Amino acid sequence: MPADTQYRKIIHIDMDAFYASVEQRDNPELRGKPLVVGGLPEGRGGVVATASYEARKFGIRSAMSSKQALQLCPHAVFVRPRFAVYKEVSKHIREIFSRYTDLIEPLSLDEAYLDVTEDKLGVGSAIEVAQQIKQAIQDELNLTASAGVSINKFVAKIASDINKPNGLKFIGPSAVESFMEQLPVEKFHGVGKVTAEKMKKQGLHTGADLKKLTEDELVKSFGKVGRFYYQIVRGNDNRPVQPHRETKSMGAEDTFAYDLTEPEEMHTELDKIAQTVADRLARYNLKGRTVTLKVKYSSFKQITRNHSLTQPLGDAETLSRIAKELLAATGLDEVKIRLLGISVSNFGELQSKPKKDDAPEQLKLF
Ligand SMILES: [Mg+2]
Repeated sequence: MPADTQYRKIIHIDMDAFYASVEQRDNPELRGKPLVVGGLPEGRGGVVATASYEARKFGIRSAMSSKQALQLCPHAVFVRPRFAVYKEVSKHIREIFSRYTDLIEPLSLDEAYLDVTEDKLGVGSAIEVAQQIKQAIQDELNLTASAGVSINKFVAKIASDINKPNGLKFIGPSAVESFMEQLPVEKFHGVGKVTAEKMKKQGLHTGADLKKLTEDELVKSFGKVGRFYYQIVRGNDNRPVQPHRETKSMGAEDTFAYDLTEPEEMHTELDKIAQTVADRLARYNLKGRTVTLKVKYSSFKQITRNHSLTQPLGDAETLSRIAKELLAATGLDEVKIRLLGISVSNFGELQSKPKKDDAPEQLKLF
């Protein structure tokens, strides 16, 4: 790459044995013990969501059946997951991320890509940002995270795994290509067991082996993803950090200091809320086809009404107009409204499909 290339600064942050670490943090009796968070081994179809590092020493892994885990380590302790707690912690982690950047792409509750090419605090060094984030997670949540820092998502993600737990690994621009060359094929995320076996049968064991093949040869052997392999072994991965990837809807709402009874007041509020929603959509370059109005009455009864369009939209004026029409249709005689909200969903083709290799595995188990 030319010397004047402006490299992106990408961090992949991954909490260490997330669910298990939270449980050990909150319950001192579980510390230092082989702990399995997930289904109980007595139950049918129970699986391991997360195993503590003590449990991993016995070969216990995520997605394994809890029965098998018990066989591997008969004195393992099993606890059920507490998702409400993990979600709270996850929210706090994302708040820490947001001090540095708005370009946050969560992959699951405990994992995210951050683009800190321009960090909000002007730290400058991505390694320093990663260190500060790890420190904040330690100080504020009493948990550890591992970070990978590089110029693209692919390498950052692999890097975060290298010095786990509590690790930080930087793969700089000049090191990326040699890093990819020595990488075993099974470490390429997106390469499943079957593909890895297929590659090995063809004598392809590392990135360097893949690099000897032309793009056409790779496509012939592995299908479309061959193009991705061709680029990635050369250190090229231009996939942007996409903040909205998990977002299915975006909106805003307001609870009022006193109940609204006059349509004029409601309209004024809807104008304000529509503007907030439009600003948010614009920030993420999103437009949606479905507009939903939420109304909560003084009785706390809540209703939603939605309207779908043929064209995606995101401007404040249209949002407000549709919201007012939906509101009028609910009947406004003698109502007292304590909350109004507008959201937009159905983003359609503007939203890229989540890639299989980035699926939040831990959540799929439940
Ligand atoms: Mg993790």
